Amino acid sequence: MEEEQQQLRVLFGKYEMGRLLGKGTFAKVYYGKEITTGESVAIKIINKDQVIKREGMMEQIKREISIMRLVRHPNIVELKEVMATKTKIFFIMEHVKGGELFSKIVKGKLKEDSARKYFQQLISAVDFCHSRGVSHRDLKPENLLVDENGDLKVSDFGLSALPEQILQDGLLHTQCGTPAYVAPEVLRKKGYDGAKADIWSCGVILYVLLAGFLPFQDENLMKMYRKIFKSEFESPPWFSPESKRLISKLLVVDPNKRISIPAIMRTPWFRKNFNSPIAFK
Ligand code: ADP
Ligand code: MG
Repeated sequence: MEEEQQQLRVLFGKYEMGRLLGKGTFAKVYYGKEITTGESVAIKIINKDQVIKREGMMEQIKREISIMRLVRHPNIVELKEVMATKTKIFFIMEHVKGGELFSKIVKGKLKEDSARKYFQQLISAVDFCHSRGVSHRDLKPENLLVDENGDLKVSDFGLSALPEQILQDGLLHTQCGTPAYVAPEVLRKKGYDGAKADIWSCGVILYVLLAGFLPFQDENLMKMYRKIFKSEFESPPWFSPESKRLISKLLVVDPNKRISIPAIMRTPWFRKNFNSPIAFK
C-alpha cells in the first residue's frame, strides 16, 4: 500500500500525481501536473489484468490509442500520452475542470438554447471522429465533461471503440447496467454500424438535456428494451416543435433510416446560433 503510493506520487519522473478526480467503470482518474511545464493533466489508470485477458488484446488497444491521438478537436478530451508498466496503463489527458454534464442534468432540465449548444458541440465532435473512421459507442452524459468556459468535451473517444469482446464480456461496462443510451441494433447484438449507433445515443442525450429524464425508462429491464426496440417515447409538453421533430428523426429504429449528421446540421433547430468549432488537426 504505502509503497504503491510512494511510487504513484511521481509518474515516470514526469508527472506529479494529485487527488482523485473521478472513478469510472474500470478506471480511476487522478489530477496530475506535468513537472517541467506545470500544465495540469488528468491521469486515467487502468489495471491491465482487469481488462486484458486475451491474446492480442494489447495490440488492438494500442491501435485504438494511435487513432485517438489523431483525433484532436476542441470538443474532445485530448489524449496527450499513454504510458504503461507491467500491470497498469496510464492515459495522460487534458484536465477538464468543469465536471460532468451529467451533474448539470440531475439538477433538472436545461433551457433549450443551452441544450442546443451542448448538442451542437457533441455533434461537431462526433462528426469529426466519424470522418476519421472512429466511432464512440458509449456516448452518454457521464462521458461528457464541461470545461471552465462551459464548453463540452467528449471523453473516452476511441477508447470505447475497443474490440467487441471486451465490451460484451462485461469487463469494461459491468456497472453500466442501463441500456438507456444504446441503439436498438446494438442491443440486438447483430452486426452494427458504430457511427449510426452513435447518432441514436446523441438523440437520447438531446432528449435528456431538454427533458431532464430519459426517453426510454422502466424499472423492468425487458420492458425498457421493448421500448427501445419500438422507439416508444413521449415528448414532454415543453419541447418545441422543432426539437421534437429532430428527436423523432434521431430516434429511428432502422439505422439506415436514421438521420445522418449532415442532415442534422442542416436543420433550422441545429443551425440556430451555431458556431462551428475550428478543428485543429
Ligand atoms: P471510465 O471510462 O472508466 O468510465 P472515465 O474516463 O469516464 O472512466 O473517467 C471517470 C471519471 O473521471 C469521469 O466521469 C470524470 O468525472 C473524471 N474524468 C475523466 N476524465 C477526466 C478529465 N480529462 N478531466 C477531468 N475529469 C475527468
Ligand atoms: Mg466513462
